[in-house]
Parts: sequence; structure tokens; C-alpha cells
Amino acid sequence: MIKPNPFIEDLIPYVPGKPVEELERELGVSGAIKIASNENPLGPSPLALKAMGESLGETHRYPDGDAFYLKQKLADKLGIKEETLIIGNGSNDVLDIAARTFMQAGDEAVMGEYAFIVYPISTQAVGAKAVISPMPDYTHDLKDMHSRITEKTKIVFIANPNNPTGTMVKRDEVQWFLDKVPEDILVVIDEAYFEYVDDPEYPDTLRYHDMGKSILTVRTFSKIYGLAGIRLGYGIAHEKLVSQMHRVRHPFNVSSVAQTAGIAALDDVEHIQRSKELNREGLEYLRKELSELGIKFAPTFTNFILIDLEVGPMPIYNALLREGVIVRPVAGYGLKTHLRVTIGLKDENVKFIDALKKVLER
Ligand SMILES: *Cc1c(COP(=O)(O)O)cnc(C)c1O
Repeated sequence: MIKPNPFIEDLIPYVPGKPVEELERELGVSGAIKIASNENPLGPSPLALKAMGESLGETHRYPDGDAFYLKQKLADKLGIKEETLIIGNGSNDVLDIAARTFMQAGDEAVMGEYAFIVYPISTQAVGAKAVISPMPDYTHDLKDMHSRITEKTKIVFIANPNNPTGTMVKRDEVQWFLDKVPEDILVVIDEAYFEYVDDPEYPDTLRYHDMGKSILTVRTFSKIYGLAGIRLGYGIAHEKLVSQMHRVRHPFNVSSVAQTAGIAALDDVEHIQRSKELNREGLEYLRKELSELGIKFAPTFTNFILIDLEVGPMPIYNALLREGVIVRPVAGYGLKTHLRVTIGLKDENVKFIDALKKVLER
């Protein structure tokens, strides 16, 4: 049979969180909760839900391939030009388009050792090499990343905050890095959790877009907006970079339903506020309970927390499944004693802590 190209043979496939239905079917438990994929536990933005419902009658039509109204809305909200926006079928699509636009076989991309797994996948898929920078204290080390730039480097991926560690790089570090980085290297700053971050040292990367460097800021509707299932994300970059990326983008990559949802969700200030508040309270509760249990965790600026059990976590993960709690193993990232836990509804957080106590007592 035909073989895939050699880059693909070395690719490690992405392993998603286990769906609730699958767990209930396999283990016969009921009332299971999934706090494994950093989804918004409050559900989709209600304004987006309503708008999506109203848009269904037009789904025999192709979507607007240019996403005109969504771009207009985003440009207005962010105070940028529409030409600097590219909309993706999830932000993963934008990351992949960037890799396919700016890299080819033999090139290199620099990324953190525990950085989002989509970066090595998109890099290897075009035959480029993922150059790995260590992440002491679970955080991107931008000095080390800078030191790994070579003549072959085309992209540097920085997730801020990062998944699965939850950590953030600060404004002065980003500023230092952007000052140093060559103009012809694309710096991708993935801000999937942007809306959750309140820290005063969190950099506003859009401010650096006029520096003459090649910067792509990437954001998503999958997290705080609660729209992971419809696949919607966007990138912001200099219009010259965006116009190159548009050549690679599939003509109708974003559905009409997703475009409608995005436009409505951007106005849903109340849903965003509630989501942030719930997350803040949930994090506070989990930090307190985990500390009391003597469990270590990484500092997080997101809607999830990376815990270090200091032993191989699979027995605990599996025991939690039997208690009807789905969290996320992260051994695929080289985090061999850790689990990633999404902040849930209050009841879900309590259920997780109760199950964890029970499992650890055995
Ligand atoms: C969840 C997440 C995304 C979102 O991907 P979508 O394709 O928009 O759903 C992107 N980057 C990081 C680091 C994430 O954790």
C-alpha cells in the first residue's frame, strides 16, 4: 500500500480528552463530568446560540469566504484594520496555515518543550524540524528560545499563556525577545486564554505589531466564548503576512454558522464576565484544596491547572474515571507525573476534589 511521506510517519497523533458518553458506555458510570479539554463549563455564549439558530435556514449557501462581517466586528472591537485579520476553522487552522505559508522541508521552528502539541504537528507536517527549548518552572524561557534561532529558523511558537502548563511570559520578556528576534522570522504568539488573564504584566502583543517584526497573534472562540464545537479562531498580523496566508487558506474554511456565532459572541459581555468570575472562584477553590492535600501545581493564568502527583498518574487517572471524573493525562508532552484539570462548575470542582481524596486514600 502507499506509504505516507516520511515526515508523517514520525508524527505523534493528537490525543483528545475522553468524551463523557464514551466513559459512561465503557465503565457503566452515570453523571460523569469532563474537565479535560479546557472547555467553558457554562456552555456557549447564549447570544451566539440564538444567532446560530437563526442562521440555520441559510446553510444551503456557501459561507462568506472572506468572513466580511466577522472581520469588521473584530477589527472594530480590537481597533485594527480588517486587512490584518485572518479567520480560521479554529485557531489550529490559523497555526497550520502559518506553518504551511512560511515553512518548508528542512526549515526549523523553535518551541517550548511543554508547548501546545499542535506546533510540532504543524511543523513536522511540512517537513520542518521542531527545535525544542527547555521550560524550567513550566514556563517558556525566551532567552533560551532566542539562543536556538539559526539560519534555518522560520517560526518561533510562544503560547501565552501556555497549554498544558497554564504559565505566562511577562511583558518585559516578550519585549526583550521581540527586540532581538530577526525581522524575517515569524513569531507566533498564541493567546487562546487571553480573555482569562488579568495579570498587569500580561503583554498586549497587538502593540508590537507596528515594530517592523513578523508577528502573528492568534486567538480563539473555543475557550471563554464556549464555542469549541463550531471551530472558530483568528490571527492578527501585518497585512502583507495575512495576504500571503490567505493564499493557503481553504476558500470556505469557516462555516456560516460559525461566523454568525462569532459576531454575536463578541457582544456577549455578560457571558464573558460570568465565565471569568466562575473561573476565578473555581481556581481559588482548587488551589486551596490541592494545597491542603499537599499536591503541587504549576502557576496558572488560564481555565485549567496542571497538577504534579509526583508518581506515574495513570492509576489515579483511571481511578478518577471510575469515579466519573475525566481529566487529562499529559505524558505526551513529557509531563510524566502530571494531570491537567480544567476548572469546572462549582459542583464539578467539588466532585473532582472528593474523587481525588477518595482515590488517594486507597
Ligand atoms: C485550546 C487551545 C487553542 C484553541 O484551538 P482551536 O483550534 O481554536 O479550538 C489554541 N492554542 C492553545 C494553546 C490552546 O490551548
